[in-house]
Amino acid sequence: MGSEQQSTVPFTVPSFAGEVPDAVVKVLDSGWVTTGPQTAAFEQDFADHLGAAHVVAVASCTAALELCLRAMDLPPGSAVLTPSLTFCGAINAILHAGHRPVLVDIDAATLVPSAATVAAAAARSRPAAMIVQNQGGYPVDVAALTEAAGLDRTRVIEDAAHGPGAARGGAPVGSSSYAACFSFYATKNMPIGEGGAVASSDQEFADRIRATRLHGMSKDSWRRYLPGGSWRYDVKTIGLKANMTDIQASIGRAQLTALPEWQRRRAELVARYDEALLGLPGLVVPQRELAGIQHAWHLYQVRVPDRDAIIAELESAGVATSVHFIPANHMTAYQEILGAEECATVPVTDLVAEELLSLPLYPGLSDDGLERVISAFTGALRARG
Ligand SMILES: *Cc1c(COP(=O)(O)O)cnc(C)c1O
Repeated sequence: MGSEQQSTVPFTVPSFAGEVPDAVVKVLDSGWVTTGPQTAAFEQDFADHLGAAHVVAVASCTAALELCLRAMDLPPGSAVLTPSLTFCGAINAILHAGHRPVLVDIDAATLVPSAATVAAAAARSRPAAMIVQNQGGYPVDVAALTEAAGLDRTRVIEDAAHGPGAARGGAPVGSSSYAACFSFYATKNMPIGEGGAVASSDQEFADRIRATRLHGMSKDSWRRYLPGGSWRYDVKTIGLKANMTDIQASIGRAQLTALPEWQRRRAELVARYDEALLGLPGLVVPQRELAGIQHAWHLYQVRVPDRDAIIAELESAGVATSVHFIPANHMTAYQEILGAEECATVPVTDLVAEELLSLPLYPGLSDDGLERVISAFTGALRARG
């Protein structure tokens, strides 16, 4: 395709730890491939990694969000606060759980809702619950937003899809949350391919997630087939089919051992980006007020004028980029469901969304690849003076 000599710098490539293939083969040979001992061990490993009391592994972060909303047992059609600048799966989870998304605007400096934007959305909607999101790896101030929403902490769900590696006040994201939902999707900081988890400080809440991740069956099949297990089970609550397999869990356990080194590499790449890019004409780099927090550096997000043209120029220079996110209020289905009035409540999101650009950032990005991105990007910006 065009110039054969220069390969494209991909937007993202998942890293896999060296131990992954052996771990998978062991599970395949074990005779038990779905939810079982590896899943239980991964839950303990991930809980230890976060410093969380309870972890329940599930099929995806999207399923985790829906399971958490359902476990809160809100009245049908409840108002649930969510940033509009988020992934569509989070909005879908609210709708699938039978509730009504209420859009919250962002603060342009952090790309996440502020206490003021949450309070404004709460004032017009009487929310029953709220989803907050660690956009790009920036740990939100959950306590401050919970207070601004006028909600109890047992009604706040953290979408921590970008959360592994992030911390606030020394506390890792998810370490003390009532309900934090993680993603192990292929592009995330801790990739399995597919997968998710709920971390909770509350035993009873974690038990409810555990009971509803596999149809609501009172015993998963692994435990029924253990010696002394019985064929009998009951269904007391209608659950989802959202369990994690032991194949995924074995990959996850191997991946966790490599995660700290990957986080170190992400920070190194970010430092080089910052050194080369901060101060360029027209460029705004959000989330650079880092006092008291540890950023997970899931994304390197910038704001640029003439964003769509810059994306096209970078693409012809062999640099792939992305945008996080197209806001929910710009999408057809949500416009139809929420209505024009609701979709007009997030002006800062509307403005910032036209300028957002995510540059390649992943542990496998080489120094050469990084310099190619920097050179193509600075060229595109300087041409606009
Ligand atoms: C990726 C992502 C999700 C969904 O994660 P899955 O594991 O693919 O369901 C949810 N929220 C945000 C912010 C994401 O980036």
